Amino acid sequence: MNEISMPQSAEHIVEPLRMANMATSVFIEILVLSGSQIAETDREKEFVIWLAQRDQNVVGRGTVGFDLDEMPWLENDVELMKQFMLSMIDTAINKTQWHILDYDPGEEWSRTTLLHFLTMIQAFNQNHVNEQHYMEWTTLDEEDEYEPTIPVGYPKCQKHGAYLSYLGCVICNSLD
Ligand SMILES: [Zn+2]
Repeated sequence: MNEISMPQSAEHIVEPLRMANMATSVFIEILVLSGSQIAETDREKEFVIWLAQRDQNVVGRGTVGFDLDEMPWLENDVELMKQFMLSMIDTAINKTQWHILDYDPGEEWSRTTLLHFLTMIQAFNQNHVNEQHYMEWTTLDEEDEYEPTIPVGYPKCQKHGAYLSYLGCVICNSLD
């Protein structure tokens, strides 16, 4: 089970989105696919990559829930990035990239779940932004010698067209 919640100060506004582990993978995959299709700016790509990093096949089942303020928001482009997230959700609801998947996410469930997430993003505002999360996400830990958190040059999976996180392609990883 994974839970996506509003920031603590806004907990009461929209109830958390709770999903079983398999459902969470579907949720992340359809969002990453639609985001990868429409992202144009580096900031938009960052949001897609951040989501792609919620990859349960690599980081463990039931460990990818988050509060909305943990996403890579910055105060100066909250509204722009909200618009991008809303378009990403819309594109996912419209199933434009579903043919890439080797399974059917289920139209009814996907729609209900994505609309719940959409309501949460709409309720998110500048007061909820905590740039510390962005700093931590984009700053390399000196102790680890891994690749950068955000892959240089924003590479995409050649097979699925999804932006890669440092964990690889979220679709490829689900097929292993
Ligand atoms: Zn792939």
